[in-house]
Amino acid sequence: MMIGDKIIRSVNWHITTKCNYNCRFCYVQKLDREILDIKKASSVLEKLKTNRNDYVEIEKINFVGGEPFLHPLFYELLQAAHEMGFVVSIVTNGSLINEQNIHKIAKYADWVGVSVDSVSNLEEARLGRGRGRHVSHAIEVADLVHEYGIKLKVNTTVTKSTFQENMEPLIRWMKPHRWKVFQMLHIKGQNDACVNELAVTGSEFQDFVKRHEHIRLVGGEKPVFESNEDMIGSYFILSPSGKVVSNEGGSYSTFEFEEFLEKQTRVINVEKYVNRGGLYKWADQTTKGVKDGLNEKIRTECPPMLRVNM
Ligand code: SF4
Repeated sequence: MMIGDKIIRSVNWHITTKCNYNCRFCYVQKLDREILDIKKASSVLEKLKTNRNDYVEIEKINFVGGEPFLHPLFYELLQAAHEMGFVVSIVTNGSLINEQNIHKIAKYADWVGVSVDSVSNLEEARLGRGRGRHVSHAIEVADLVHEYGIKLKVNTTVTKSTFQENMEPLIRWMKPHRWKVFQMLHIKGQNDACVNELAVTGSEFQDFVKRHEHIRLVGGEKPVFESNEDMIGSYFILSPSGKVVSNEGGSYSTFEFEEFLEKQTRVINVEKYVNRGGLYKWADQTTKGVKDGLNEKIRTECPPMLRVNM
């Protein structure tokens, strides 16, 4: 594989904050308003396609929420992104995926990520993730996603009430191509109320990591574990209205997309982005960046830590 000359190639667009679940640890509860006009929403995609700078060239769009299926333009956005040539990914709680809409998703999406934090339906309900059938439904969704040839990702948030669990049997059953495991992240102004009860220490998170790091996924891939330190400043995030979001400092701040590109302002630590596994083989044609030696390129060619001044 070749190393490309650009590095940040993926973006998480939180197209809505609306959700049909009420996860207590959710860190996307209050952001700006979603775009309800398809032309305006498509213009955000156009910006991602056409505006580039020395370190950003977006190939993959991850539609996240809230629950992205609740955005009134959800399918139109998937279609637009697909037709523009992006690799299209969704992260969802999975509750709205069923046999009736999976074919529509399969038409446009390359990846579906389903959030599952526990092996227990009851525990998920206690966390606010669904009403007592979340794990069972997620397993059904995994089957559907495989059946329709979409790549499956599982996202797991490790909390105080789940860090001692063994999720290996469930992960083996769901057979994801990618498993991302996050230490519960406190974002001030978003999920303050649950921190005392649900936040895990670094060593508790490492307990969970040690219990699961030997697991190999489809294609022999390793799980990806992200501590709070890994997650801060290592994502290119857009708010519902299309503004760039920084999570530096433990709370959200937003600024205009144009400022991010035109003024060469960056909020992403590119070394962290790569080291947390931000670049991976998300499509067969993805050949840039996923290669030993990329870290060396970053060390020698990228500014060390680029942050916006708020
Ligand atoms: S399903 Fe996701 S967006 Fe919805 S409340 Fe839970 S964490 Fe937040």
